[in-house]
Amino acid sequence: FARNVAGVYRNTIDGRMLECNEAMARMLGYEKPADVLPLNAKDSYVDLREREEFIERVRRERSVNAVEVHLHRRDGGPLWLLESVHIVDGDPEILEGTALDITDRKLAETALHESESRYRAVIEQMREGLAQVDNDGVFQFVNDRFCDMLGYTREELIGRNTDELLDSPDDIALSHEKTAAHRRGSSDQYELRMRRKNGRVLWVEVGGAPLLDAGGRVVGSVRIHDDVTERRRTEEALRDSEMRYRLLADYSTDMISRVNVGGTILYTSPAVTSLLGFDVSDLAGRSIFDFMNPVDREVVRLATLTLARRGTLTFSFRVVRRDGTEAWFEATCRGIKSAVTGKLTEIVAVSRDISERKRFEENIEFQAYHDDLTGLPNRTLFRDRLTVALAYARRALRPLALLFIDLDNFKDVNDTLGHAVGDDLLKALALRLSSVIRAEDTIARVGGDEFTVLAANLSSSVDASLVAQKILDSVSQPVVVREHEISVTASIGVAIYPDDGELVETLLTSADDAMYQAKESGRNAYKLCTPAMNRRAAERLSLDIALRSAIEHQEFSLHFQPLFRLDTMATSGMEALLRWQSPDRGQLEPAQFLAVAEETRMIVPLAEWTLREACAKAALWQDTRPGVRLTVNVSPRQFQHNELRQMIIEALEESKLDPALLEIDITSGAAMLHNERTISVMRGLREIGIRLSVDDFGTGQSSLTSLRDFPIDGVKIDRAFVGGIEQSASDRAIICGVIVMARGLELRVTAEGVETQAQLDFLRSCGCDEAQGFLLGRPLAFDAIRSPES
Ligand code: C2E
Ligand code: CA
Repeated sequence: FARNVAGVYRNTIDGRMLECNEAMARMLGYEKPADVLPLNAKDSYVDLREREEFIERVRRERSVNAVEVHLHRRDGGPLWLLESVHIVDGDPEILEGTALDITDRKLAETALHESESRYRAVIEQMREGLAQVDNDGVFQFVNDRFCDMLGYTREELIGRNTDELLDSPDDIALSHEKTAAHRRGSSDQYELRMRRKNGRVLWVEVGGAPLLDAGGRVVGSVRIHDDVTERRRTEEALRDSEMRYRLLADYSTDMISRVNVGGTILYTSPAVTSLLGFDVSDLAGRSIFDFMNPVDREVVRLATLTLARRGTLTFSFRVVRRDGTEAWFEATCRGIKSAVTGKLTEIVAVSRDISERKRFEENIEFQAYHDDLTGLPNRTLFRDRLTVALAYARRALRPLALLFIDLDNFKDVNDTLGHAVGDDLLKALALRLSSVIRAEDTIARVGGDEFTVLAANLSSSVDASLVAQKILDSVSQPVVVREHEISVTASIGVAIYPDDGELVETLLTSADDAMYQAKESGRNAYKLCTPAMNRRAAERLSLDIALRSAIEHQEFSLHFQPLFRLDTMATSGMEALLRWQSPDRGQLEPAQFLAVAEETRMIVPLAEWTLREACAKAALWQDTRPGVRLTVNVSPRQFQHNELRQMIIEALEESKLDPALLEIDITSGAAMLHNERTISVMRGLREIGIRLSVDDFGTGQSSLTSLRDFPIDGVKIDRAFVGGIEQSASDRAIICGVIVMARGLELRVTAEGVETQAQLDFLRSCGCDEAQGFLLGRPLAFDAIRSPES
């Protein structure tokens, strides 16, 4: 209220307050006029010089109107007054004045001024030219940089219209359009040409935004100007040269393309349409690898790496045309490096279709490496492949077989039926042989009636004789050629890497030698090189035959070996171990025949017999040794077969043996295959109510942690560790470790092959549950374990 009323006062010219009204007193910060009287006006001035100038003026002019004076109030706060003062008539020493409080307005003005000067400082330091224009495009404000840019002084620019600086009617139109847009409140960025005072034309990038007043109305716009003349010039130069190159590219019959390092196509010339059938627009942004024969992708990737080091490179690769056919291309590439980082950024390639040339070359190559008649690889290519395969076999530690095949009576065919028939027979046999071998094997024709086969990746050298037998069988089938039914046979020599040689030459010679032995032995046969191998092959064959009749002739029997609890030393179980009493070989142990039985699938009936026999015997011993369980071994291959479960069920039913008394030993190798299947087979077996344990633990790929996932009851520590108890600290450590871990998994631990008291003592001290071994009892025939003295 006080501030809206004028203050009225009288004081002496040197400042002493004589009287004032209440409004005046309030302005100064006092309660009532009387409080103000001791005051001297000089005390209220912020700047005394201002007061002196003011009084000077009053003395001179006698009356002064509307002067702003800056005072401070009683409490020190700012006070701005708008004063009108005159000297009282008749007394030159007395002043009369009126005052209005304009503090609020003044404070607002100062704040504005401060922020404005801060804003100015920012604007003047800007790298860009800044201009403020009104709604018609007339400059209101420009910064120094803008002046420099255009070569005018600030005074020359303010008040001028933007249009006067523009160079072309197009730009004027553009500028108007943008000004109008700003009036509607939108902001944007554009480029136009501006003419400097000296006539030079600049390309300027303008960013404009509407300028609003306090009421939110658009009063003009603020524009930031960036001189982009230099950039524009290089762009244009680039475009010019690009134009020239593009012309070249457009008319070239070669395909010119640009790709980035990752293989994304940036540009291809129109030649791509005639060469590959694609439209230029099909390709941009796609990967070159999409259009490439997968085999050649690696070549191209390598080429990219090479380009990063070398400037240019020429190489060929296969491209897939739009219609799916393939074309050979030869590309000459140049790498383009970034000027800044020096890294390869782009590759420019000039490519041409060289399919015709390639076909020609390939044809020549094919002829050089293949046999004309049969189209099979020839001797040269075969040696080549053999060399490569040997290098691989060496690294993979895998056997490799070389078969040398010679037809037995081919000469007769030629002599009696003529060469044409002979040729056709060779062709027919070549086809047949090719179909017998695996795709990854190589068959070659190395002489008139000689072929060689390279069989790599064999799982065992025994496989080689299987391949040889297959070839013999297929060759001996009659062939119909030009209405003649012809029967031929072959003699085959087999050489195995590494047994019969480690080099191309030695293997070829060995196979050749073996082939002659086959001929001598009466033809239509295969021979291995080494006597040992021939013996092994022969043995295997006769074992196979003998095994087939062994079950019928009741040549198998079971021996039982006891298992003991280590705490009470009571017999806890009996393991059934298979024995074969062969009429011509004597007693055989499992190691001597199980592998062959597995290979020939004889293992299935054998396992069935074992289970029945063992369960029957275990049911019998329940009278005298109740609760003593039966352990039956199961081979890895059996374990993978579904019939196992059914076999066990039948054996249990037949014998009436309590399922809880049957335990199956699974070799750790089979168990550790550890796939879903293994676990589900195990679950299926456990459902019958029988027990499972993992045999030979510690050998092969045994892993204690994977035991956790198996539904099993126990583990058996392999004989090898038990045998090492006295000498090997690490064996002792392993045994203890297995026992501790198995305890945690609640698995029973059985030690196998205990032969000495010291081993037994150690196992007991470690807390092992159960043991088995020659010290405690050898495997014995059923009658022997039943007799009371055992
Ligand atoms: P395994 O399951 O580890 O069986 C224990 C083998 O260790 C038996 O040999 C046994 O005679 C032998 N042995 C036991 N205690 C000692 C000892 O203190 N010292 C020594 N040096 N050896 C001891 P066997 O009977 O020759 O059996 C060998 C393997 O043949 C068995 O190893 C088992 O994996 C397999 N096998 C035995 N019978 C069968 C069967 O009916 N079916 C299948 N699939 N495999 C069987
Ligand atoms: Ca066993």
